[in-house]
Amino acid sequence: MTAAPTPTDPAIPADAEDATAFADLGLRTELLGALAALGYEEPTPIQREAIPPLLAGQDLLGQAATGTGKTAAFALPLLQRMPVGRPDGDPVSLVLVPTRELAVQVSEAFHRYGKDLGARVLPIYGGQPIGRQLRALDHGVDVVVATPGRALDHIARGTLRLGALATVVLDEADEMLDMGFAEDIEAILEHAPAGRQTVLFSATMPARIDGLARQHLTDPVRIQIERERPVAVEAPRVRQSAYIVARGHKPAALGRVLDVESPTAAIVFCRSREEVDRLTETMNGRGYRAEALHGGMSQEQRDRVMGRLRAGTADLLVATDVAARGLDVEQLTHVVNYDVPSAPESYVHRIGRVGRAGREGVAITLAEPREHRMLKTIERVTGQRITIDKIPTVADMRTRRLELTQGALRESLLEDDLDPYRVIVESLTDEFDLVEVALAAVKLAHEATSPGSDDEEEIPQVPVRGPREGRPETGGRGERRGPGRPRTGGTTQVFIGLGRRAGVRPQDLVGAITGETRISGRDIGSIEIADRFSLVEVPQAVADEIISGLRGTTIKGRKATVRRDRDGDGSGERRDRGYERRDRR
Ligand code: AMP
Repeated sequence: MTAAPTPTDPAIPADAEDATAFADLGLRTELLGALAALGYEEPTPIQREAIPPLLAGQDLLGQAATGTGKTAAFALPLLQRMPVGRPDGDPVSLVLVPTRELAVQVSEAFHRYGKDLGARVLPIYGGQPIGRQLRALDHGVDVVVATPGRALDHIARGTLRLGALATVVLDEADEMLDMGFAEDIEAILEHAPAGRQTVLFSATMPARIDGLARQHLTDPVRIQIERERPVAVEAPRVRQSAYIVARGHKPAALGRVLDVESPTAAIVFCRSREEVDRLTETMNGRGYRAEALHGGMSQEQRDRVMGRLRAGTADLLVATDVAARGLDVEQLTHVVNYDVPSAPESYVHRIGRVGRAGREGVAITLAEPREHRMLKTIERVTGQRITIDKIPTVADMRTRRLELTQGALRESLLEDDLDPYRVIVESLTDEFDLVEVALAAVKLAHEATSPGSDDEEEIPQVPVRGPREGRPETGGRGERRGPGRPRTGGTTQVFIGLGRRAGVRPQDLVGAITGETRISGRDIGSIEIADRFSLVEVPQAVADEIISGLRGTTIKGRKATVRRDRDGDGSGERRDRGYERRDRR
């Protein structure tokens, strides 16, 4: 039954010896254990390059976007360098991040990696009751992950003391500058000990970031994930597209895309073993014949999986990069990146599984909104375009299924072996119209072949930003914050009943919004601050979320009236009231 394995099967990956393992990077066993439990099979390029110098205590300037594995790249060395069993409490590491969402995400990562080291990690951000943060700080912490505004608040209160800091990380530094946090960052760094290690990660390297690095980093190691070009292997000519989808909707989105594409056989790449196992189970539950392939499986298990794929009894292979290395399956028509690969090289290797020897291939990537930038990097490095497509809607799926039923009926008509059913049709036409009989038959055929109705919910479409929109890639003063930023879907203004007299600055408003909602600083348009109130331009679609978020918090320690601006575009009237329109930087 099992087809004989070919020499290209992933018995031992051909290039396994060349690839650096986490253990080769000098990480201690507690961390290696945590990584193995998470199913990470090998370090990503940024981890390979950043971990050794960071362990050695060097400063580092890294250009890396979300999706490259940058969080582990700095979290692992920081955890390793953390003195064990410290009884006292001032933090030894401070990570500054632009948003509440990222603060939570990064501290969760620290928890995951550092659980066997007993690391005490605390996220602090605006919007969360300060009392809880005070108590936690008081009990002692090793790592603080904070948004700049709230960190500065605590420093001013004397509740966050930076005297014991060994390392400061500025994560997504370009985004922090975009959000007007430059002064806050400067002020925080002033409080940090001079001899500390400083690490700066940024997706882009405009001149402002360079300036920040020159001022605060000492002889830093520079890492640029994009620089490894040109890509060693030329990217094959396959049709490449991507879908932007929130994490929670990924399994459903994958199902829909596969239904529309109808691959003969597809390989779906995941980042970790854990994800491979989880997704295989999910896809089997959805009626696909999916098989898992990862580095934790024995050779015999892998051979069996490959046999089933070749024999056509499986149509979906869910795999990690390590397991799929050197894999050559003729039937493969589609490569799906369930996550954006951690480097352009990895993308090229993955999509090289299809489109070989003149065969037609399709490469599909599911990217989370934050990973959009990584797609752009891949495009730039490979010199090939990745089209962003819309996730099929419920209506699209219905149409597609009807098309499939129609195709199946057409085939059946052409096959001409319908005689046994003639008697049914003839007897029914005594009673019913012929077309009606046909309709009933089509309905039964359709219902028998179409998957169940669990796909009936719409998957939200995430608006796609243009490559250069939102943040300057090089140089510049970030002039994009000016009013009237073009935006799809329209904007509206939110009125906030606090202004200059309350000491409100643009960065306070941005901090409050990004701290209280899932909105990124890049989505906030112009900000106008008057004496007694402020107006913030935000996308129409998220205005309500912002309003309810701001109503639940304080700005500069005060509760404010928050509502949609009733003036609409009566800007003339506002000018009469002594308005000041200002850029955020
Ligand atoms: P980041 O770029 O730090 O936001 O990380 C992106 C995602 O990759 C996170 O979900 C991590 O858990 C995951 N990740 C990071 N490093 C690895 C690795 N070496 N192997 C597998 N997954 C990883």
